[in-house]
Amino acid sequence: MTRIDQLSPEFVEYIPERPAPGFLYVSKRYATALHLCCCGCGSEVVTPLNPAKWHLKEDGGTVSLSPSIGNWSFPCQSHYWIKGNRVSWAGAMAPEVIAAVKARDRRDAAALAPEPAGFLSRLGRVLARTLSKIGNWWRG
Ligand SMILES: [Zn+2]
Repeated sequence: MTRIDQLSPEFVEYIPERPAPGFLYVSKRYATALHLCCCGCGSEVVTPLNPAKWHLKEDGGTVSLSPSIGNWSFPCQSHYWIKGNRVSWAGAMAPEVIAAVKARDRRDAAALAPEPAGFLSRLGRVLARTLSKIGNWWRG
């Protein structure tokens, strides 16, 4: 597997069916970008461009994506930043950091599309915990 250290932006209307390594395909129409995982494993990395997901910055023919790309769901678990067309590699992430990032993603998504049922069940759990604490205190 060849690691990719540079991506060239390709502005397209539709993401190609067979994307080539080394390109970052950007479809503004569908607010999505896609590239093949830069570790060389060939997995397709889809990065939706919206406030809860990724932000694409263009600067003089170069592109940057923020936040970083964390391919936790792929066997390679690679993690890198795309800045000014360059791929900069992050060290391996500890499992608890990955869990925290996933939790943050879920929170962001929930903030964008609130689920009243989910919120109520969380509230219920918090109340139950609080009540059991009070109960313990009462029993001493
Ligand atoms: Zn990979």
